[in-house]
Amino acid sequence: MSNENKSIHDFDFNLICEYFSSVERQGPGSPEVTLKALSFIDNLTDSSCIADLGCGTGGQTMTLAGNVPGQIIGLDLFPEFINIFNRNAEQLNLSDRVKGITGSMDNLLFEKESLDLIWSEGAIYNIGFERGLNEWREFLKTGGYVAVSEASWFTNERPDEIHDFWMAHYTEIDTIPNKVAQMQNAGYIPIATFIIPETCWTEHFFAPCLKTQEAFLKKHAGSKTVEELIAGQRHEKELYDKYKEFYGYVFYIGKKI
Ligand code: SAH
Repeated sequence: MSNENKSIHDFDFNLICEYFSSVERQGPGSPEVTLKALSFIDNLTDSSCIADLGCGTGGQTMTLAGNVPGQIIGLDLFPEFINIFNRNAEQLNLSDRVKGITGSMDNLLFEKESLDLIWSEGAIYNIGFERGLNEWREFLKTGGYVAVSEASWFTNERPDEIHDFWMAHYTEIDTIPNKVAQMQNAGYIPIATFIIPETCWTEHFFAPCLKTQEAFLKKHAGSKTVEELIAGQRHEKELYDKYKEFYGYVFYIGKKI
């Protein structure tokens, strides 16, 4: 099908997918951080079932798979990410235990109380932290874990510029104690929280994106969508550099009771 037959929306959607497909991760994180979060989880065996929600192309899922027993299902809304995910799993000889499926985290088709662990790095914001924790809980076995990373404020007050930016993009950003209370209220024991290091943004996210941006702008010269997408990405990086002492991503690990 040529682009003429698609709506503008489809075309934009494909461009955004193409951009994010070409970087290793679609959000801040690192293998070390994935392993640190994993170190708080102690219930996994060969028969465990794990779901990675909003897995993207699966950077963190493959790290998980190399370090835990059991079956892992990666779920993402974008079919193109899932194609790349499954190709990666095959290349790493993990296809017998790691499968990517297309689907939405707000409409999970797992059996109730069937999962030992729900993982989600930089993705729960798509349905909101509280809603995600509340809705996903029923799919976990009692004693199962949830491990998610989420944008959080480090201080009670912050400059208007960064406050307004987040209010325009994700009003659920909150302080760490408030997020921990939300986790507890959703029926989990808060097991651990830690701030993911700056290098997860700079080295593992912004730097690979920067490399992609020039080539992507050239390839799609004249595309307003691409110009706006890249301008938005660059703005996000500038704000991070300026205000990183006020916010960041925090890992939250909880155990269903
Ligand atoms: N976990 C990956 C990707 C984070 S980016 C990483 O850390 O690199 C957020 C991901 O959530 C994207 O891959 C996006 O496609 C996915 N996503 C957005 N809305 C979703 C939904 N409703 N259900 C499932 N995945 C969703």
